[in-house]
Amino acid sequence: MRKKILITGGAGFVGSHLCRRLLNEGNNVICLDNFFTGDKENILDMLPNPYFELIRHDVQEPILLEVDEIYNLACPASPPYYQFDPVATTKTSVMGAINMLGIAKKCKAKILQASTSEVYGDPEVHPQPESYKGSVSTTGIRACYDEGKRCAETLFFDYYRQHNVKIKVIRIFNTYGPAMNPNDGRVVSNFIVQALKGEDITMYGDGTQSRSFQYIDDLIEGMIKLMASPDSFTGPVNIGNPNEFTMLELAQKVIELTGSNSKIIFQPLPQDDPLQRQPLIDLAKKELDWEPTIELEEGLKKTIAYFESVI
Ligand code: NAD
Ligand code: UDP
Repeated sequence: MRKKILITGGAGFVGSHLCRRLLNEGNNVICLDNFFTGDKENILDMLPNPYFELIRHDVQEPILLEVDEIYNLACPASPPYYQFDPVATTKTSVMGAINMLGIAKKCKAKILQASTSEVYGDPEVHPQPESYKGSVSTTGIRACYDEGKRCAETLFFDYYRQHNVKIKVIRIFNTYGPAMNPNDGRVVSNFIVQALKGEDITMYGDGTQSRSFQYIDDLIEGMIKLMASPDSFTGPVNIGNPNEFTMLELAQKVIELTGSNSKIIFQPLPQDDPLQRQPLIDLAKKELDWEPTIELEEGLKKTIAYFESVI
């Protein structure tokens, strides 16, 4: 029997990879998206497939669907986009979670929430275990995203305790790869596109802040494994690559791999920009038998090849 799987945010960077993987595994895939940051180009190849359905809809509004599983990814993930309409960002996470949990409750479907390392804020504990409660500003410019995602986690666990909904919460650390929008605004796509065009590389702050970058294929594997895990395992579980780099190291690597003549220019660090971020992944290793397999250089080469083909 083909499972009916709903993927909200399915036309986005992560969502389109997930739709393709689940479709190729023989499922009925329903991609729901309002195309705020998603792009039809990301899902064009799947549209002719009769087992792929596309619904243009905003998760802030209720919708009735009969499904077996839900992956709730709808939410802009890049700071310039989620800060463009911050009220809509919080509503997308909170109302989106309520609306999708409502479907899961009604259909007895399993539901996975794409949460984020941003729930740890600018962390005082390094690396971050799932037990770390975070250091998040409730009033800053990142709060619309961070607090929206934190509230969504709360809703997931309350629906689990109160209504026995089968939930899975994944905390995704910085992920990159093909299908990112060239104008997405996140660091990996910015640096690669700038390097390929020979433009200045925009370093925010002094470049000593760090992130741990995960290639998209590793994330998709983690999401599928989490959904398939026993109902007793709800997470939250970190999924990310623990190899940590400063933004200066990232820029140098991108310049080296593209053979670019681009120069690094320094711009102000945005407000509340976390200084460091690295996942502890012991829980994912133990419960999901998952760990990342693609290191930065290999993933960057694949991503550079993608951007060369689209810009
Ligand atoms: P993305 O911006 O490429 O994709 C988000 C998708 O959601 C887009 O297709 C967008 O159009 C859609 N969307 C936004 N608001 C919507 C709404 N109200 N109704 C319906 N659709 C809506 O971002 P992504 O990198 O693919 O991220 C996907 C999910 O994973 C997000 O929830 C994000 O918070 C989470 N996440 C991603 C990362 C990462 O590094 N990529 C890290 C942590 C968490
Ligand atoms: N960044 C940068 N130049 C850019 C885009 C981002 O130096 O053109 C920095 C940003 O300030 C942050 C890091 O790169 O310190 C990661 O930014 P991104 O927006 O990709 O992810 P997030 O901050 O949400 O982890």
